[in-house]
Amino acid sequence: MSTPRRAGAGRIVVVGASLAGLRAAEALRDEGFGGDLTLIGDEPHEPYDRPPLSKAVLSGRLTTDRITLPRVRNIDARWLLGTAATRLDIPGRQVVLADGRRVDFDRLLIATGTRARPWPDAAGGGLAGVHTLRGRDDADRLRTALATGPRRVLVIGGGFTGGEVASGCRELGLEVTVVQRGAAPLASALGGVIGGVATGWHRAAGVDLRLHTTVRALEGDAHGRLRRARLSDGTAVDAEVAVVATGAPANTEWLAGSGLAADHRGVVCDGGCRALGADGAAVEDVFVAGDIARWPHPLFPGQLLRLDHWDNAVAQARTAAYNMTHASPDHRVHRALPAFWSNQFGVNLKSVGLPHLADQVAVTQGALDESRFVAAYGLRGRLVAAVAVDSPRVLDGYAALIEARAPFPPVLNAPDGPPQLRPVDAEFARLAGDEPGGLRGHDTHTPAAATPAPVAHP
Ligand SMILES: Cc1cc2nc3c(=O)[nH]c(=O)nc-3n(C[C@H](O)[C@H](O)[C@H](O)COP(=O)(O)OP(=O)(O)OC[C@H]3O[C@@H](n4cnc5c(N)ncnc54)[C@H](O)[C@@H]3O)c2cc1C
Repeated sequence: MSTPRRAGAGRIVVVGASLAGLRAAEALRDEGFGGDLTLIGDEPHEPYDRPPLSKAVLSGRLTTDRITLPRVRNIDARWLLGTAATRLDIPGRQVVLADGRRVDFDRLLIATGTRARPWPDAAGGGLAGVHTLRGRDDADRLRTALATGPRRVLVIGGGFTGGEVASGCRELGLEVTVVQRGAAPLASALGGVIGGVATGWHRAAGVDLRLHTTVRALEGDAHGRLRRARLSDGTAVDAEVAVVATGAPANTEWLAGSGLAADHRGVVCDGGCRALGADGAAVEDVFVAGDIARWPHPLFPGQLLRLDHWDNAVAQARTAAYNMTHASPDHRVHRALPAFWSNQFGVNLKSVGLPHLADQVAVTQGALDESRFVAAYGLRGRLVAAVAVDSPRVLDGYAALIEARAPFPPVLNAPDGPPQLRPVDAEFARLAGDEPGGLRGHDTHTPAAATPAPVAHP
């Protein structure tokens, strides 16, 4: 039996009132924490679910007033919503808010997630019609813009968010151009082989897909409205709406000067969700969970993971809450296997493990040219991931094999498998000197990994 540590008393502050923050608050109460609990969130809304924003909300099947996250239990908390945390004073045990208030804590959870990367040039990014998609206000603005019936929507970035937005726009009957820097949509997350299949989904849905291409400039009319995008291949695309889907930096600015190992990639923590300082030592009573966390996963040693994955935010929040209420000898290690899903172009895609680490991929069930298939990913002879297209339930078996560090190609004897597995290059575009699993740019809900190198804010 583990010994509860001050589980019943004191002040716990959670910064970031979204999925990880809410689920951690609920778990803290489940673990017997009876002290003061405060949730601080810069959005004015109660915690809500983000995945529908680029799917059912975008295509109009759901409105943003219907996506509030269900409450698992009463958390009896003080809610400070619509208020950003602007500074963390660890020795003084205070969070400073934008309105000057100071909130005292004994234990702190950092769960401030990530945000959509804006268009880098302020003039282009400031044009009416240029959007990003991270929160419900973004989704409402984008819905309003799409409802005006733009002649073409430009999607910048062919990752998961870009694909889902393009798919939703096609559902609405809108003309869509997707501009993708890489060789295929989803290629940085799933490699070129499955990326090739995703290329087929885009083109079959009537998307004008521009590969190996970037947007050089966004141009407006005399009224400051988006009119045109200039592309790297010298062509131009006329569009009245653009959605910038080029990745998600972490919301760590408020931690500047705190001494934590934090930068645009996230906040570094140990396997037990304890925040690390710039010296690499765990900081007492400060914990991290969700999209903002970078931590060493026991199954994938030698690197820090950051996952923009719904399932991970929930599981990591629970681990953090457990460890915040128990003495360190009893701490749990956050070891949930990475898993995520996406729905686009009528296809359900689900992944377990870390595909982007792989050097090889093999189709293990079905076939790439069939509507349903499973692909297994291997790194140096070990199974590290599996991706299922329209067959999500089979992934449980693959997850067990990945956790058991099974060899690649795996021995499955699946009735719908090919007579012989044929591993091929997983086709991840590596940067010069980049090892499999090395850091590369990543889209929302695509994992990033890098060798540990804690960086402190100045
Ligand atoms: C459009 C979209 C589609 C997605 N689809 C999928 C999917 O299909 N499958 C999947 O697995 N995952 C998906 N995700 C990812 C999933 O939603 C995230 O993993 C999840 O929301 C992470 O929860 P979090 O609480 O860690 O971070 P967030 O949900 O980002 O919450 C962080 C909160 O902290 C707030 N905050 C930031 N800075 C401060 C501050 N200084 N002070 C106070 N508050 C602050 C933010 O505004 C936000 O409310 C999607 C995400 C998006 C945006």
